[in-house]
Amino acid sequence: MGEVEQELEELRAKIRDAAYRYYVLDDPDVSDIEYDELFRRLEQIEAENPDLVTVDSPTQRIGAAPSEAFAPVTHRQPMFSLDNADSVEDLEAWEQRVVRGLGGEPSGFVCELKIDGLAVSLTYEDGRLQQAATRGSGIVGEDITHNVRVIEAVPLVLRGDPPRILEVRGEIYMPISAFDKLNERQRDEGGPVFVNPRNAAAGSVRQKNPAITATRRLAIWTYQVGAVEAGPAIDSHWATLEWLRDMGLPVNPASQRVETRQQVEEFVGGAVESRHAYDYQTDGVVVKVDGLAEQDTLGFTARSPRWAVAFKFPAEERNTKLKKIKINIGRTGAATPYAVLEPVFVGGATVTYATLHNEGEVHRKDIRPGDVVTVRRAGDVIPEVVGPVISARKGKKLRRWNMPKKCPFCGNPIVQLEGEAVARCTGGFECPSRLREYLFHFASRGGMDIEGLGYQTVDLLMTNGLIADPADIFTLEADELLVFDGWGEVSVNNLLSEINEARDRPLARLLTALGIPLVGTTVARTLARNFPSMDRLALASDEELAAVEGFGPEIVRSVRMWADDPETKKLIKKLGAAGVLLADPEPEGGLDDSLAGVTLVITGTLEGFSREAAKAAAEARGAKVTGSVSRKTSALVAGSNAGTKLVKAQELDVPVIDEAAFVRLLAEGPGVLPK
Ligand code: NAD
Repeated sequence: MGEVEQELEELRAKIRDAAYRYYVLDDPDVSDIEYDELFRRLEQIEAENPDLVTVDSPTQRIGAAPSEAFAPVTHRQPMFSLDNADSVEDLEAWEQRVVRGLGGEPSGFVCELKIDGLAVSLTYEDGRLQQAATRGSGIVGEDITHNVRVIEAVPLVLRGDPPRILEVRGEIYMPISAFDKLNERQRDEGGPVFVNPRNAAAGSVRQKNPAITATRRLAIWTYQVGAVEAGPAIDSHWATLEWLRDMGLPVNPASQRVETRQQVEEFVGGAVESRHAYDYQTDGVVVKVDGLAEQDTLGFTARSPRWAVAFKFPAEERNTKLKKIKINIGRTGAATPYAVLEPVFVGGATVTYATLHNEGEVHRKDIRPGDVVTVRRAGDVIPEVVGPVISARKGKKLRRWNMPKKCPFCGNPIVQLEGEAVARCTGGFECPSRLREYLFHFASRGGMDIEGLGYQTVDLLMTNGLIADPADIFTLEADELLVFDGWGEVSVNNLLSEINEARDRPLARLLTALGIPLVGTTVARTLARNFPSMDRLALASDEELAAVEGFGPEIVRSVRMWADDPETKKLIKKLGAAGVLLADPEPEGGLDDSLAGVTLVITGTLEGFSREAAKAAAEARGAKVTGSVSRKTSALVAGSNAGTKLVKAQELDVPVIDEAAFVRLLAEGPGVLPK
């Protein structure tokens, strides 16, 4: 056998194996993108060597042969796969082929979201559901009628004037909300969790017991007809969709008819942007030539229609090797495991690390060092390890990972308290990892906002023994810093003047920077308003703390423990000695609580304030500022370009005020709010 033949054989065997696992077992062991790469390579070799194409090559057929667990169903008209376009160039190449095939531009296109579910063919006779089948090989599928009958979105009887026979094709999917709930339940009951909604939908439909399917809240979008007998005269795909909708079949309202190629590309661009806005998973856009006569002219290849193409979204899941699991000690001492991965390009970025949250999570997902794992990075969400590809273990003995008993940074024990999900290093600030995170947090934008004191600088100063607590930052001297490589007078002076400025930050910032558990920006502001100096705070009784609006027993306990800790007292003293301001100036006439009891939401762009400054000004007068509009909101402060919050406020009849009214509110109190 020649080299090319051998590669062909290997590729075909791999693809067949993957297709079997994906379509028949619902348990794929390679990611879609890897599958697509193999498939494309096969197509390419076959295109270059047409004499080597065999009738049983995966390029000549659809999906995989149906499983023997279900009765076979021969489709009246075959179900096709779709040609893929992975880029705008691919899409344009398809459009050009269409124009060439028709000898001119088509009359229009229909753009539909490509639903990532399970293809199904429903057969209605005289308007009654007779049979439901999977796609299977495209010619013969599996009978899943019993399971499909229990899906509420599938009409058992059609409305209006249905044809004698109707074969309608659609995608059964599991809404993401239902998928999340299902996995939560599986987790609680100790059952297997599903990797993604597609898998969950396929697993739920290809069940022996319809009662299980019925609990799975599946849904369907229909998008195509197969055989039709005695139906109305229809000449476009768009009209077909309207007809399906009139008969009571769910048709995705996101579908759109457009006239030009430019508009197709706009639809695709919009779909890429909004792909996470729906409660179902989409993996692309299907573009179809609208005219049915035009579709006839274009016809089919062995696998797919020439009049349609599937534009695929960039992959958000890929498989890669989990090299090891390491831990990081955070600023509160929490020990967080993270995955060190063979770098993988996914969701538009290269991912090398991904947090694993805690030991329980690692065990629940059964992720083991050495595994091939699926990594997901979707939209702005931080990368996540979905789970291991169990079949890739193939007899390899991989050991379960456990949280180390000792901190790798300071050697002190790591303990997990009863009832807590996280384990903690007990080394306090002796632990260099914890100290580094803590100092970094102290200097960061959310804390004392010392520009130039980023992660690497903190690390450098720490490892050279120049800083061991936040107060040390304020006693740094120029000649200690000038010795470092690449540090000149200018950079050293800049840093020192930044540090100097930070001495006078408001008390609330200092409290946030000190990283008291449960005390974020908002709680720190409330603390500083009620107890405007460190001395005053140290003297605050539990009763006084508990009397502060919004403070529950947990915050009170946390502040108390922190304030009573001798280490805290030492640190505050040291900060004071280093010239850090430990009190806010007393407001004239005592505490300003003119806006107590007022709850505001601030949105859009204000001219005279940053969003933070507006929030601080309102909070300094005792107002509560929250992130979302509800019936309890006293008013929405809307700057320019206000978006969904404005709509929500109008819906709930919450008063909306502009910036001028906000300024008056600050000066004159709640009397200025519309009643
Ligand atoms: P496809 O992705 O090439 O597209 C065809 C399918 O799209 C149709 O059968 C239909 O089910 C679906 N679809 C969704 N919305 C539609 C709409 N609006 N109009 C028309 N069809 C719509 O599907 P395919 O041929 O089933 O499979 C190929 C893909 O499946 C591969 O590209 C790969 O991503 C994945 N796959 C993965 C593995 C694996 O091992 N990971 C194995 C086999 C297939």
